[in-house]
Amino acid sequence: MSILSFLHQVLADKACFLCGEESDDPVCPRCASSFRTCDTGLSDRRLAAGPASGFSAYWYEGTMRQAILQMKVQGEYQLAGQLAGMLANLARSLSLRDRPVFVPVPRLGTRQQGDPRHFPSVACGTLAESCNGDSGVGLLLKTHPTPLQTQLSDTRRLKNVDGAFELSANAPGMLHDRTVIIVDDVLTTGATICAATSVILQARPHQCLYLTLALSRATMSSGF
Ligand SMILES: [Zn+2]
Repeated sequence: MSILSFLHQVLADKACFLCGEESDDPVCPRCASSFRTCDTGLSDRRLAAGPASGFSAYWYEGTMRQAILQMKVQGEYQLAGQLAGMLANLARSLSLRDRPVFVPVPRLGTRQQGDPRHFPSVACGTLAESCNGDSGVGLLLKTHPTPLQTQLSDTRRLKNVDGAFELSANAPGMLHDRTVIIVDDVLTTGATICAATSVILQARPHQCLYLTLALSRATMSSGF
C-alpha cells in the first residue's frame, strides 16, 4: 500500500452522513434504499404557483429530507454528486428525446460551470452526460437575492421569486427551439419553477419542463 492510499484510508470520512455507519459513499446503500421514489414518468401538475410539467424523483420526507437539509443548510456538499447520480439514473427512464438542455435554478453569482457546492449545477452536468443532453449552466441567472424559500409562507414564496431571474446574453440562441429542462432540488409551491419557466419561455424553446430531486407533499395540499 502506498503512503498516499494509506493516508486516504485513515483520513477520509468513511461514515454515512445520515446514519453514521461505515460507508464509502456519503449516503450508505441502506439509507439510499430508504429514499421513496415519487413520479414514475413525466406528469402535468397544478402547482400553487401555476401549471407545470416535469418529473420529481423522490418524496421530500424521511432520509431524503434529511439528506437535502444536510446538503443545503449544513453545507455538506459532498452529498450533491451522489444525489445527482441517483436523480440521473431515474431520469434516464424518462427517455427524453430531442437532446434536452438542462438548466439549473441558479443562485446569486453562480456563472461558472460545475459549482460543486450547488446541487442544481452538479445535477445538470450529470444529467447532460447520462441523458444525452447539454448542460445549460450559466444560461439562467439570478439577478437579486431572495430569502430562503423554506423560511417563508406559501403566499410569500410566490412573490419572493418575482423578477429574480434573467437570461444570459447567449441563452436565447442556446435555448431557442430546444427542449429545456429546469433542474432544482425541491419542488414545493412551484414558485421558483414557474418564475424560471416564464423567463426561459422568452427564448422560445420547443418546450420547457422541470426535473427535481424531491417533491414536497405540501405541494399537494397548498393548491388555491
Ligand atoms: Zn446510512
